[in-house]
Amino acid sequence: KAKGAGRNNARFFDPVMQSIILNRLALERDLAEAIRLEQFTLHYQPQIFGTDRVVGAEALIRWPHPTRGMVSPADFIPLAEENGQILAIGEWVLKTACAQLIAWAGRPEFADLSIAVNVSARQFREPNFVETVVKTVNETGVNPRMLKLELTESLMVVSVQEVIEKMTLLRERGLRFSLDDFGTGYSSMAYLKRLPLEQLKIDQSFIRDLLTDPNDAAIARAIVDLAHSLGLEVIAEGVETQEQQDFLIGLGCYMFQGYLFSRPLTADAFEAFVLGRFFAGVSPGGEDSP
Ligand code: C2E
Ligand code: MG
Ligand code: MG
Ligand code: MG
Repeated sequence: KAKGAGRNNARFFDPVMQSIILNRLALERDLAEAIRLEQFTLHYQPQIFGTDRVVGAEALIRWPHPTRGMVSPADFIPLAEENGQILAIGEWVLKTACAQLIAWAGRPEFADLSIAVNVSARQFREPNFVETVVKTVNETGVNPRMLKLELTESLMVVSVQEVIEKMTLLRERGLRFSLDDFGTGYSSMAYLKRLPLEQLKIDQSFIRDLLTDPNDAAIARAIVDLAHSLGLEVIAEGVETQEQQDFLIGLGCYMFQGYLFSRPLTADAFEAFVLGRFFAGVSPGGEDSP
């Protein structure tokens, strides 16, 4: 038996491998269908300033699949990034967030709220990314200042110069940028000072054990100080306890996002949350506890 051919066949007919491939193909096919039918929804997680002022929301995509149930973005965004489906998904997210901002613009209680939208590196690197965003902003008539794009450090590994150019073009149009999951990626002080950023977002992995792990506390402190030194706003994500919030306030971080305040909510539930119509014991229409 030819060894080389045998190895290839073995790989192809390995039942575990085969089921992984089939699952992936099925997910890809369902995702294509979901894109075509716009089967996604956006949930909004409040962003808090100080103790209780809602200043905006992060838009987080949800995929209520007809048979799989709610599929987590962690389970389909990486696949969509690999196969390029993220481009269509990203356009839908942006369009939907803009439509939400337009709906809020006409209501005084919501008119000052910004929406942060996650942008994948793959999306940002597309040659027509700036054009696509500007087109969506123009077509929807949204105030670009209310739109915050969340980028990650993974963008910087290719061409920082290109990233700066694109960010600058969008910044000139009024859009703002946050650096998401900050501290987990390739962080270089050299590029950080050159990026037209508005905000650093401390990754939740540093918040989780903030009170028990001195290393996490040191990193959180360093990020807050760095943000202040660079004249940037800083927000902590994944804040789950009062103790974590108090500790962060002690470091000089006054913006928060996390389960302490609210899980990501449907648009309706988010509005109720903002209006203070959130009663304990009544489901806000958000996401269940794990
Ligand atoms: P991310 O942008 O870092 O979003 C924060 C994640 O932390 C969200 O998970 C959110 O639900 C979760 N979270 C918020 N507060 C807490 C907390 O207090 N404790 C804990 N343990 N978790 C908290 P989610 O919604 O599952 O999203 C996961 C990731 O998927 C996001 O991470 C983001 O990278 C990606 N993602 C979500 N929506 C989009 C989207 O529209 N476009 C793109 N490109 N990526 C998205
Ligand atoms: Mg984010
Ligand atoms: Mg994040
Ligand atoms: Mg994160």
